[in-house]
Amino acid sequence: MTFSIHGLAVARGIAIGKAVLVASSRVDVAHYFIQQAQIEEELNRFSQARNAVMAEVQRLHQSVPKDAPPELAALLEVHMMLLQDEMLADGVRHWVSDRLYNAEWALTSQLEVVSRQFDDMEDVYLRERKGDLEQVVERLLRHMKGLTTQLPQPTERKSPNTWHQDQLLDDSHDAPLVLIAHDLSPADMLQFKQGVFTGFVTDVGGKTSHTAIVARSLDIPAVVGARQASQWVKQDDWVIIDGDAGVIIVSPSPIILAEYAFKQRQSELERERLARLRHTPAVTVDGQQVHLLANIELPEDAPSALAMGAVGVGLFRSEFLFMGRDGKLPDEQEQYQAYKRAVEGMKGLPVTIRTVDVGADKPLDRTAKDQEHLNPALGLRAIRWSLADPGMFLSQLRAILRAAVHGKVNLLIPMLAHAQEIHQTFQLLELARQQLDKKSVPYGPLRVGAMIEVPAAALSLPLFLKHFDFLSVGTNDLIQYTLAIDRADEQVAHLYDPLHPAILNLVANTIAQGAAAGKEVALCGEMAGDPSLTRLLLGLGLRYFSMHPTQILRVKQEVLRADTQRLAPWAQYVMQSENPAAEMQTT
Ligand code: PEP
Ligand code: MG
Repeated sequence: MTFSIHGLAVARGIAIGKAVLVASSRVDVAHYFIQQAQIEEELNRFSQARNAVMAEVQRLHQSVPKDAPPELAALLEVHMMLLQDEMLADGVRHWVSDRLYNAEWALTSQLEVVSRQFDDMEDVYLRERKGDLEQVVERLLRHMKGLTTQLPQPTERKSPNTWHQDQLLDDSHDAPLVLIAHDLSPADMLQFKQGVFTGFVTDVGGKTSHTAIVARSLDIPAVVGARQASQWVKQDDWVIIDGDAGVIIVSPSPIILAEYAFKQRQSELERERLARLRHTPAVTVDGQQVHLLANIELPEDAPSALAMGAVGVGLFRSEFLFMGRDGKLPDEQEQYQAYKRAVEGMKGLPVTIRTVDVGADKPLDRTAKDQEHLNPALGLRAIRWSLADPGMFLSQLRAILRAAVHGKVNLLIPMLAHAQEIHQTFQLLELARQQLDKKSVPYGPLRVGAMIEVPAAALSLPLFLKHFDFLSVGTNDLIQYTLAIDRADEQVAHLYDPLHPAILNLVANTIAQGAAAGKEVALCGEMAGDPSLTRLLLGLGLRYFSMHPTQILRVKQEVLRADTQRLAPWAQYVMQSENPAAEMQTT
């Protein structure tokens, strides 16, 4: 039966494919694809875990005191029975051998399948055994976690991006896949950057949650905040993800499929049309030059930034180098190599490297301590985290200074609010230079910029303009903190409003004060890449936009049609109105 689920549209386009469910578990589970040659090894890991857990439960069973309630021994017997049941092992074998899932992922996928069978059972006693099964799987996962070391690189799996209707019945391994998960950490998303999936859906997350941001950077249709999608969709269901409307259609009928296959082709054509603008300079009708820069997460993103015609990197979120490493942070040398790759990858164009911004919805690991804090978005994140660990911060600063030998590098500091944080940052930067001097290690010049993303910073601009060479407005956080809306919480997503007059005033004021001081002001939040806001931002005086490479051509199209002379008074009018969103429709 066809049904649809609504969520938040975060990355454009239509994806059609078979659902791959990433089950959530109380245990931290890694998801990655293995190589064909690793199948045996992966199955062994599972068998070893099964034997070890079996031995553990048997030991427990034997040590149950004689006077203990009989239910205790019975419970352990059920666990032993489930462990021996071939239904679990056969399933794991299938997911590992046929789908090349790592053992943990295979196990949670099979748990999902078997759990649904339990849910459908008439017998209440049997239905309740689902809880036992979950406990058994959790024991196995914990055991395997102890055996697991570094994640291997996912293998590349080619999947066609465009789906053709006659492929629906094709159940071969090359059918396009879409990923459905309760939640995915940004680190998980990076694992999937290898082009395996043609679309993403998550139950949780807001439009500017970091998971949504990474999904957008993958340039594939994505919907977040889809509430219970991972409960409703089953493994291998055919699914349409409409990333423009934020809708997921499950088990579509042939007529619906034909309609969406048509839409999919239309958006491919639109993409091809836009590609022709790649080398066109971004200049408005009235001759204003606009700088369209790229936001990247990894050095490997540099080629796609260039391919989209970016004139530099306006935001390299360096924290992605630090994530998903079981707390083992990259040292100076590893970071230097990564920054150097990004700088060289941009072929002489400037690269703005932001110092690490972990915390809030970007934990270092899925189990990281940040999750335990009551309010991580207001806690030890970004520059606060860096200043709390000067040794770590210094090694990052040295690595960035060294990378500046290879090209134009800007240093960008996130989440600043206090004068004292500014002073400490500059002192540590000076110390990093001295440390390099002492060892005669070469380094290059840096322009230093501050992110304006805490309202306190937006309201004390003279301080920032005095100390920094440039500013970059981080509207994702500026909106979150000004409107008191958790950017990752889909329940308040409807209140997350980039057009709130307070936000427009803070942005406009930052641009105006920067211009008066003769300093560059960029905007690197998601607003910069939203073509429906380009004219308004141009009217407010913005000339440096930094966004996902995938958005650059759409924004450029708006720039080429814009006349800033005409837009300036209109933008003032919109900003001062009670309902800017409604006024935006008037031109
Ligand atoms: C922002 O806050 O707007 C920003 C660009 O930084 P991030 O999204 O990484 O917090
Ligand atoms: Mg931010």
